[in-house]
Amino acid sequence: PLYADYLQSHIRTVPDWPQAGVMFRDITPLLQNPKTFRLLVDTFVHRYMDEKLDMVAGVDARGFILGAVVAYELNLGFVPIRKKGKLPFLTVAEEYELEYGSATVEIHTDAVKAGDRVLLIDDLVATGGTMLAAAKLLGRLGATVVEAAAIVDLPELGGSKLIADNHLPLFTICDFA
Ligand code: 5GP
Repeated sequence: PLYADYLQSHIRTVPDWPQAGVMFRDITPLLQNPKTFRLLVDTFVHRYMDEKLDMVAGVDARGFILGAVVAYELNLGFVPIRKKGKLPFLTVAEEYELEYGSATVEIHTDAVKAGDRVLLIDDLVATGGTMLAAAKLLGRLGATVVEAAAIVDLPELGGSKLIADNHLPLFTICDFA
């Protein structure tokens, strides 16, 4: 999309965080700068404003920052998909594999209705496990995930291919090879 390189230039790479060998792509400078924050949000709003969506779902925790603002601008509600044990009401859960061990995401059972057209937002796709688990939760509630969206794709980690193999449409603004 327009401005992709400009937005990408505001992502900071932090080597060896959270552990040795990892190049962490830090999106906080994108949010901190008012010009890039606005362009970032507007990129998503522009893409989805005619999609007749019913809800925006954001993934814990950076997906909350982006998803909530995009939902507000689209005149939609926002629902959180959270890490295990954080949501107070009835939930459904999906467990997925990490490099070491596993993780679980949850959503409230009444967060979306059957037939709802939902936009799913997180900040970044690495192995794709988080985004796919989040999409499965929405699917189990009967919603249609119109698209999964993130700022960054790390294609070498295989997530965007896995997501495509699972027939989930994916939009990302930029990638780091
Ligand atoms: P995945 O499940 O695709 O392997 O990992 C994606 C999840 O981990 C996202 O929720 C994302 O916030 C987080 N994540 C993993 N690596 C990075 C990274 O380099 N930068 C950022 N900002 N988030 C990451």
